[in-house]
Amino acid sequence: NEIKRELKGALRQFPNFPSEGILFEDFLPIFSKPELFQKLIDAFKIQLEGKKVDYIVGLESRGFLFGPALALSLGVGFIPARKPGKLPGSVYSVEFQKEYGSDKLEMQVGVIEEGSNVVIVDDILATGGTAAAAESLVKKSGANVLEFLFVMELDFLKGQSKLGAPVYTLLTGQ
Ligand code: IMP
Repeated sequence: NEIKRELKGALRQFPNFPSEGILFEDFLPIFSKPELFQKLIDAFKIQLEGKKVDYIVGLESRGFLFGPALALSLGVGFIPARKPGKLPGSVYSVEFQKEYGSDKLEMQVGVIEEGSNVVIVDDILATGGTAAAAESLVKKSGANVLEFLFVMELDFLKGQSKLGAPVYTLLTGQ
């Protein structure tokens, strides 16, 4: 529809960034234009209409750009899932495989109420490793993942197969 076309038109592509062979989709221009930023939030809100959401969990770092705005507009809490060693206090930690080697994702213990419904958000779904790790963190907290929201998905990587809840992607990548 119209909103998707407008948002897609705002993206900029950078070949060979951050390394050779990668086509980097830069979605930061959306945030410099308040009317587009609002449309991004509205599109996600429409997708969640009628669903009982208690928390938005945003993944470091681009999930931090729109996760809090979406959470506030829904009137629910925002919780960050961060790279290792960034969060103080006791944390849940999940290791996952990256293209080269492994990485970790962490979430603070005690911030999500047990049995609550969580929506996980990030900019891009690629192999799904990061989002799957976030799903494990939410489950360790005793909460449920209701849905995943992404701005874009690299669907040839089949990231959805690693995830245990419905996935909504606003724009399709290439
Ligand atoms: P995954 O774990 O392989 O699904 O990778 C997802 C994470 O890597 C997300 O946090 C994205 O921000 C980032 N990412 C992966 N590929 C790209 C890309 O082509 N452009 C921008 N970010 C990417």
